[in-house]
Amino acid sequence: MSKESKIYKNSPKKVHIRTFGCQMNEYDSEVIKTNLLQRGYLFTEESEEADVILVNGCSVREHAEERLWRNLENLRRLREEKPELIFGVLGCIAQNHKENIFKRFPFVNLVCGPHNLPEIFNHIENLNSRTRILAVDEEERDLENFHLTSTPGVEGGSPRRGYVLIMSGCNNFCSYCVVPYLRGREKSRRMESILEEVRMLVESGHEEITLLGQNVNSYRLQATGCKLQAKNNKNDFVELLREVNKIDGVEKISFATSHPKDASEELFKAMRDLPKVDKYLHLPFQSGSNRILKLMRRGYTREDYLGQIKKLKEILPQCKISTDVIVGFPGEREEDFQETKELMEEVKFDNAYIFKYSPRPGTAAARLRDDVPLEIKKERNQVLLELQKRIARRKNVKM
Ligand code: SAH
Ligand code: SF4
Repeated sequence: MSKESKIYKNSPKKVHIRTFGCQMNEYDSEVIKTNLLQRGYLFTEESEEADVILVNGCSVREHAEERLWRNLENLRRLREEKPELIFGVLGCIAQNHKENIFKRFPFVNLVCGPHNLPEIFNHIENLNSRTRILAVDEEERDLENFHLTSTPGVEGGSPRRGYVLIMSGCNNFCSYCVVPYLRGREKSRRMESILEEVRMLVESGHEEITLLGQNVNSYRLQATGCKLQAKNNKNDFVELLREVNKIDGVEKISFATSHPKDASEELFKAMRDLPKVDKYLHLPFQSGSNRILKLMRRGYTREDYLGQIKKLKEILPQCKISTDVIVGFPGEREEDFQETKELMEEVKFDNAYIFKYSPRPGTAAARLRDDVPLEIKKERNQVLLELQKRIARRKNVKM
């Protein structure tokens, strides 16, 4: 009898998983679910019913981390009621804090970073509530063997929308961002493998496909393997969109995230011409001030960004646009903030995610003095939230 069927017959363990953070973490959680379901585990929405509790989280912002820590602390009491309960902390947050998680939360048994997620089944099998495993390899995971995320029937999973990771990591090293340190360098998946995964998702009932990557426009086609090729072809992502668009059963294709320095006219035209591609672009601008953009190492200016938006609106006037903004980056003065505000007023985004800057250990910006007081960050955050609300309201009235 195989190990899998033995586990299934004798004692199907119940897993409760909570995800904190971005779509990338949602995707990872889906993969974990598939991995464990295939091996006979069950999933439960009720933490009280679980034999294994996993919290999977993002480390990009301090706020998201704090939420996860609070949640974990609240779950601790369950161990008293069920001494054999296993706790795991997964994802970027595990990679970021490594063995310190055991020190701060001694009841945790597993700390497993993004590169080690493919082995999660073995780790859980080898654990009991008195043992610990730390799995935080620095090298990149084998992308081609860690996909196939279709999880029909998984509680909490979206039955219609399926996520497909097209690339992992990031090479941009924006000065505030911890992603390249935790997820490694950019690595594109083979197109054939991505298309196979899309077909599998369609077969299991998913109609909407979201292609995921930190910077999808730098997706690179490769003949073999996963090594990044020279950046000589700016349009590989458009090729991929064309291929996904051809797949029967796919009703809608969306993607995130696009970087303003790499989004191209050809992408906008493909969005216009490919009927299944959602007319929606998430294009984070982060700051409207050239001085701050430079400190952020974003690789574009305010004028470049506005130029991209102008081009997009000419090619695809009905396109909805969303963005990310950071307020309170080190050295952000009132006049820098005003430029951010003006940019938002000018573009009139359909949606905007506004974040208060938090220093992330190990990043270049963490060496700068975090000199914008929290009160000012909160105030600027509020001003932009209200501005965005007004813009959205005006747009709705027009519609
Ligand atoms: N790859 C994407 C986004 C990754 S992180 C991109 O480049 O746009 C998602 C968002 O979190 C970022 O766009 C940024 O606005 C925000 N963010 C990242 N690091 C941050 C930090 N240290 N403090 C506050 N917000 C941050
Ligand atoms: Fe982080 Fe910049 Fe890469 Fe986005 S592009 S993941 S913000 S380093």
